[in-house]
Amino acid sequence: MVTIETTQNFIQLKSDKELNTQPKELVGMDLAAMRQFFKEIGEQPFRATQLYRAIYKHRQTSFEEITEFSKDLRTKLSSLSVVMQQQIDRKFNSQDGTRRYLFKLFDGREIESVWIPETERATICISSQVGCPLACEFCLTAQLKLKRNLSVGEIVGQVITVLSDVYGIKQPPDRQINIVMMGMGEPLLNYDNVTATIRLMSDMEGIAISTRHITLSTAGVVPRIYDLGKEEIRPKLAISLTGATDELRDRLMPINRRYPLKELLKACQEFPLKPREKITFEYVMLKGVTDSDVDARRLVKLLSGLQAKVNLIPHNPAEELPFESSSHERVLAFQQILVDSGLPAFIRRPRGQDIFAACGQLAAKSSTGM
Ligand code: SF4
Repeated sequence: MVTIETTQNFIQLKSDKELNTQPKELVGMDLAAMRQFFKEIGEQPFRATQLYRAIYKHRQTSFEEITEFSKDLRTKLSSLSVVMQQQIDRKFNSQDGTRRYLFKLFDGREIESVWIPETERATICISSQVGCPLACEFCLTAQLKLKRNLSVGEIVGQVITVLSDVYGIKQPPDRQINIVMMGMGEPLLNYDNVTATIRLMSDMEGIAISTRHITLSTAGVVPRIYDLGKEEIRPKLAISLTGATDELRDRLMPINRRYPLKELLKACQEFPLKPREKITFEYVMLKGVTDSDVDARRLVKLLSGLQAKVNLIPHNPAEELPFESSSHERVLAFQQILVDSGLPAFIRRPRGQDIFAACGQLAAKSSTGM
């Protein structure tokens, strides 16, 4: 059989032999794509539904584990496809229960995810790109620069693998799972794959994490914030702000030169929030740079009129970065000014610092064997 594969610029014919040497990756496919694949290989669509549940709901990533399928079907599938190509290369366990995962991708590139357990919930922080093009001055990931976007399978695969590492297969999580897209990369610069991943993660027939528990954090890619607001299935929005004036933000987060605060806040103002929903503004506390009383009052003024809350993030110092962390007293005083002005403000507890899993540290210490 010969199939036609179209790309933007050419049509290519591929023989069965060539196709067989390029197994299809199943993680990342939605149910419609899986059904289409089963049709192409001469199998019943209901089998695709079984496979979809096996992969996304039960986290079965080896055909051998899918016992609803006959041996013949399992053999056929494994000759034509793979469930997932990425693998955990290394895992780092923090004293506080946080786990940092280093994944090796099919092309040898590396990405990271972090598992952050708390008493009644747990958060998985996932990556959307290999590296990041945005050059925020306080972030180590920025120093990697952008290598490439992640595919849907590579993004959703992080969630499946982390859950499977923690709970095994078929075992439902024992607490609420939150997903934050705050790992490596700027999610809105990988828009199509990120939004497709959100649809997959929130499908109740599969991974079943409601969009109420999925947060996408952007450094401020304004046109894509408008696009996201129009999505039928959309996550909660967080803005990485870290600076209440254009002057400061131009320096700390160069994307501000392209989309200054006025435009960013207008996009936030027009983002269609549900009645009690708030936009989270993340604010990294950098000693002597972003943490004065004047900065706090500017922040209050900037966010007035928005359904907003602020997460104050203690900076995680690193040799490569030119900043120091604010003292705890300073962070508390800053928070007090926000709260006294009616702006909800929380201090993010640093997690996984001993394994370099804290905010802005991802991919920085991948060679550290721990
Ligand atoms: S803070 Fe986020 S957007 Fe900025 S460079 Fe780091 S990963 Fe990229």
